[in-house]
Amino acid sequence: MSPAFRGHLCAPPRPVSRTAVRTVIHVDMDAYFASVEQRDLPIYRKKPLLVCHTDDLSSYRGIVAAASYEAREFGVKSGTSVLEAKLKLPHAAYIAGNYEKYLHNTRLLMQICEKYTDCLEVYSIDEAFLDITATAHFFGSPRDTAVRLQAEVAKKLRLTCSVGVGPNKLVAKMASELKKPFGLTVIEPEDLPGIFAPLPVDSIPGVGRRMRRHLDAIGIRTIGQLAEAPSGLMREKFGVIGEILHKAAFGIDDSPVVPSYKGMEVKSFGQSLSLGKGSADVEYLCDVLLGLCDGATRRMRKAGYLGRTVAVYICLGRLFDLSRRTGLGCYTDLPGRVHDVAKDLLLRERASLDVYPATKVGVSVTNLAKREDGQQTTVFDVLDEKEAAVAAVVDRLKNRYGEKAVTRCSLIGIRNRYKGAPRAEIGIF
Ligand SMILES: [Mg+2]
Repeated sequence: MSPAFRGHLCAPPRPVSRTAVRTVIHVDMDAYFASVEQRDLPIYRKKPLLVCHTDDLSSYRGIVAAASYEAREFGVKSGTSVLEAKLKLPHAAYIAGNYEKYLHNTRLLMQICEKYTDCLEVYSIDEAFLDITATAHFFGSPRDTAVRLQAEVAKKLRLTCSVGVGPNKLVAKMASELKKPFGLTVIEPEDLPGIFAPLPVDSIPGVGRRMRRHLDAIGIRTIGQLAEAPSGLMREKFGVIGEILHKAAFGIDDSPVVPSYKGMEVKSFGQSLSLGKGSADVEYLCDVLLGLCDGATRRMRKAGYLGRTVAVYICLGRLFDLSRRTGLGCYTDLPGRVHDVAKDLLLRERASLDVYPATKVGVSVTNLAKREDGQQTTVFDVLDEKEAAVAAVVDRLKNRYGEKAVTRCSLIGIRNRYKGAPRAEIGIF
């Protein structure tokens, strides 16, 4: 921790009103997984390298989790299918991700970010938001803070990041996208319209290909055009999403930076499944959820964790992501209990599913506690005794004969499209 910031922690905090102009930094690592591998293994340097999320590198299954800048020149980026990547770049290096290693680097990154603010939100494995409203003056200006942070990351991790500075999370995130790699963009509120207006609508986080097409159909291609659209029209056409988008066009975003970094301990166990063209059949979706609950809780039991909050994630018609969470009322690591709650959350979204079928669903358990040996956390543990006994037997079978040894009758017939290693868990859904 820098002496200046330590001073800040000792001194009474400067009052920062909720309505005061905020300053937020968004840090985004450049081609993260690929850059870590290129740093560690010289043979990958200056070459197209693809870190893949797959169970079999020799197959065409899976997706590219990260592409080096050399690979991006050929139009391959993260999210590209391995099949498409191999057609475009048959001679590139393809490797499986080492998520333990990336998480280790993320921890180091967050330790650096922590020096610049006490309000740090770990947004994903390679992104963070820092609210520096109260701390920027210790380092000079917000720009000076960003420059120092970026230089420290480059020096200590030997990795580059792109940094955006703005009056809120939305603007900071969009700013960090403007110059990459190793870019630094500061957007002052007064410069917002000039910078935002010419950008395509899909520069707004959350706007996917489908939404871009819908907007295109009503003549909206740039953020400037979106800002000029009557807000009533946006609400009528796209409901709540339309309102959010219309506000985003003006760079308006009230969401706070939520401090989430507490030593990067495991914060959630989750699993998700892509559903191709999508499904609106809630019964089928509930069955899929059950399989995901089985997978997530199996890993919880293996790692010795109990959780008390369940979140369900649904991607609606590849248009928008939705996530809902609620408490379980007790700590558990049993699939049945998690599924009961997850199913309720999903069923509440019936109306949306009728309009936009789910193209991806996921479940995660958060608010974790380590299970002490033989610990009975609540009276519910006793009530769940039968399920706990079944889960223990299933665990033993899977430990011995592999993960595919046992499955539920209700899940037979559901093709498990989830391939590859489970996603890294750092408390982000
Ligand atoms: Mg990144």
